Parts: sequence; structure tokens; C-alpha cells
Amino acid sequence: MNIDSIKNGIVIDHITAGKAMEIYKFLGLENLCCSVAIIKNAPSKKLGKKDIIKIDSDFDVDIDILAYIDPDATVNIIKNSELVEKKKLKLPEKITNVIKCKNPRCITTTEQELTHIFKLTDKQNRIYRCVYCESKAK
Ligand code: ZN
Repeated sequence: MNIDSIKNGIVIDHITAGKAMEIYKFLGLENLCCSVAIIKNAPSKKLGKKDIIKIDSDFDVDIDILAYIDPDATVNIIKNSELVEKKKLKLPEKITNVIKCKNPRCITTTEQELTHIFKLTDKQNRIYRCVYCESKAK
């Protein structure tokens, strides 16, 4: 793949430097059959350094997961080699089954079938808490 010219696909830009692999893992990009390019430490005017992920297919990116990991990233949708849409991310109010509670006494540790739900409790500091035990997500 020529990484500069995606015909139909997605470019996740302005990723905080060092977060590309985490995003790759959480979005399940290893399961894709198409070309995926990860560019690390690309020069950025705004951030100094940034990571970029290019996906050579019209993969349906889970915006909520992406926003949870890196709310400053931008998603560019490319169709016929042209930028057709630029999506800004917004912190999701709730994330379901993305991360697990680390509190060993949390009910989700013993009740394996429970859904893992975290709620945004502090927007400014991007704090998510487990809805069962109120432990912080990170
Ligand atoms: Zn919990």
C-alpha cells in the first residue's frame, strides 16, 4: 500500500504519540484483512509528535472506544482518494465491555457474565468509574 494515497479508507490522525498500538489493539485492527499502516512519531505542528493509523478499507471505527483512549485524535474518512468527512471525537458518557474493573472485590470479578460498564464521572479529568464499585478506570 502506498501510505500516502488511500483510495477508500480511514485515517486516524493526531493520535497522541505512543498511543497508536493501544488503539490498534482496542479497535481490533489485527483482525482486519486489509492493509493497516501505523506511523509512529510523525512530526506535528500542533502536538510536536503524533501517531497516525491508516486503514485501507471502509472499516467502521468504534468512535466511542477511540474517544475513550485518545479524545484528541481525529478520524478522516477517505472516499475515491478524497477526504469526505472529518470526525471530531467526543468523550463517551458510558463505555461497555471495553475495559475491565481492576478492583479485586468488584462484583464483576466474581460474576463473569456481568457487562463491564464504566461511566464518565469527571469530564475535565477524563475519569471513568465502574458502575458497580465506583473504582476508577485507570
Ligand atoms: Zn468495579
